[in-house]
Amino acid sequence: MKWINRIFVTTLAASVLFSFAVCVKAVSDVQTSQERLNETLELIDNAMEDAYDEAIRTALVYAPDGLSIYQLRGSAQKEAQRLLDKITDKRGLPRYELNAIRFAGVLRDGAAGTATNCKDPEGLRWSFTISLNEILFFRNYEDFIYIVIPHEVAHIVSCLSGGFDKKDDETPSQAAHGEEWVQIMKELGFVNPEKYIEHDLDMVPIEMYKRNLANKVSEALYRDEDDKE
Ligand SMILES: [Zn+2]
Repeated sequence: MKWINRIFVTTLAASVLFSFAVCVKAVSDVQTSQERLNETLELIDNAMEDAYDEAIRTALVYAPDGLSIYQLRGSAQKEAQRLLDKITDKRGLPRYELNAIRFAGVLRDGAAGTATNCKDPEGLRWSFTISLNEILFFRNYEDFIYIVIPHEVAHIVSCLSGGFDKKDDETPSQAAHGEEWVQIMKELGFVNPEKYIEHDLDMVPIEMYKRNLANKVSEALYRDEDDKE
């Protein structure tokens, strides 16, 4: 029976070795494809950064002279907090420290600015953030300081005052710009708040940025494909 044992042990050892070899090969394949994926993601990241930098550099030409990006961002933050403090104080609400404004190149629905919705999940309910389109912000600095920021602050005050209730026949946007928002805008000094529900800004720079972004990303991917062939 011994030779049968020997054959069995040899076969077993061979199959273990074989499986091991297959595993090692699979792991190195996974590693290579993971590395390739990481490289591709890095190329996309760089292309996105490039496109954004270009858009910001062009937009900064229109911003007030002599102020750095950080000073411009800081003045938006300061103005938002100043307006918020003014109204919460007037309404007898506790002071609310705003999160840092989030700056991005594209916001939902092509908006110039957005604020965290009061009806967001519980975790966000008391953590309100204003987001601003940075390209439009640098290009339309005064509009942002005097219109967009108060508009977004009014949303946050509306939330802090108990939030708006959406009626059955209202869209979320109608509900968000309802009586309460209008009232807060009046408290902020706007005579006809309805005029400022939509921001009438030149969106061409955003379209150009999006097109440039798409071009740069696809160029990077083509180059990536060529390199791999
Ligand atoms: Zn709004």
